[in-house]
Amino acid sequence: MEVTFLGTSSGTPTRERNVSSVALQLPQRREAWLFDCGEGTQHRLLASRVRISSIRRLFLTHLHGDHLFGLMGLLTTLGLSGDPERVDVYGPEGLEEYVETSARISGTSFDYPLGIHAVRGGTVFEDAEYAVTAALLAHRIPAYGYRVAEKPRPGTLDAGRALALGVPRGPLLGQLKEGRDVTLDDGRVVPASEVCAPPAPGRVFAYLTDTTFCEASVRLARGADLVVHEATYGSEAARLAVERLHSTTEMAAEVARRAGARRLFLTHFSPRYESPEPLVEEARAIFPATEAAADLLTVEIPRRDSPEGGPNVAGGAPG
Ligand SMILES: [Zn+2]
Ligand SMILES: [Zn+2]
Repeated sequence: MEVTFLGTSSGTPTRERNVSSVALQLPQRREAWLFDCGEGTQHRLLASRVRISSIRRLFLTHLHGDHLFGLMGLLTTLGLSGDPERVDVYGPEGLEEYVETSARISGTSFDYPLGIHAVRGGTVFEDAEYAVTAALLAHRIPAYGYRVAEKPRPGTLDAGRALALGVPRGPLLGQLKEGRDVTLDDGRVVPASEVCAPPAPGRVFAYLTDTTFCEASVRLARGADLVVHEATYGSEAARLAVERLHSTTEMAAEVARRAGARRLFLTHFSPRYESPEPLVEEARAIFPATEAAADLLTVEIPRRDSPEGGPNVAGGAPG
């Protein structure tokens, strides 16, 4: 699991930063999911290691232009640059109307199945490996934060031990491998926990923008391995942040701290800041494992080695 920042500026692009977009790469599926798609995201994608043709899902937080205006161009390119089986886009009410109207007026058609899903909170997408949930944040228009949770991976099966306990070779071994208990012909039950290592917890990624401090952010970020949270302003502009329903560095750090997250990346910086360093310093006073996002920065989210987790856990169980 890898996160690549494609745009980290709020409102307008700067020389160094484009407007919002983040790619989440899932190498085992050879898929990338995009969170937000500001204008110019395609150019950032071309400069990154993320293959445009691997984009399978797009999750939009809200319909402000700095998160949305790259969508039509990218959807068009997806049809030309590959042969997508299907692309699904998730976002607030109004997204479908936006895409349909833009397509109609510009004479654009998509020759691949395109699903547009209105997000209203709760589970947005789920399959055997991942669950994506959304919750309404606190912004000037409806904006949703997202939590991507990988499902726990069953622990390795000790086949020798299972055979010794009388489990025959064949489908029952497979069931144990998937973490399911089995019943033998003689009625004995062999619990998976007896022959498998403990399940490895799944990784969690949370994407929280645009918003001022809110409890929904804390819930979405609970126990997350990596939290991306907007920090449009430094603490000196706290009043402005509250008025415009954006976050300060301290609000972002407080979310990560209360959520017991492992790592926090600040993003969506106001173009008024030339360097993010003072902003990161402010956040670190509250949540030490804070870093600044930068365009084209890629961050790996490693698997946790043990159910107890690593040294950065500040409390709070995953889930
Ligand atoms: Zn924004
Ligand atoms: Zn906004």
